[in-house]
Amino acid sequence: MAKPVIDYDLCEGCASCAELCPETFEMRDDEKAYVIGDCSGCDCEEAAGICPTEAITLEED
Ligand code: SF4
Repeated sequence: MAKPVIDYDLCEGCASCAELCPETFEMRDDEKAYVIGDCSGCDCEEAAGICPTEAITLEED
């Protein structure tokens, strides 16, 4: 199963990933997205694809 990893130099806090996969991504007070769970459905390829700054990469277990 792929695990999403966020590059905090690139994340601009748009929240698109958290809206798409709220069980996997959570926005915090610093307006960055955090990975809070495993991706069970789409392997987060969709979330990686919608990130406008390409901050999400997928790491294989
Ligand atoms: S979609 Fe990308 S830029 Fe937007 S909050 Fe998620 S990681 Fe950050």
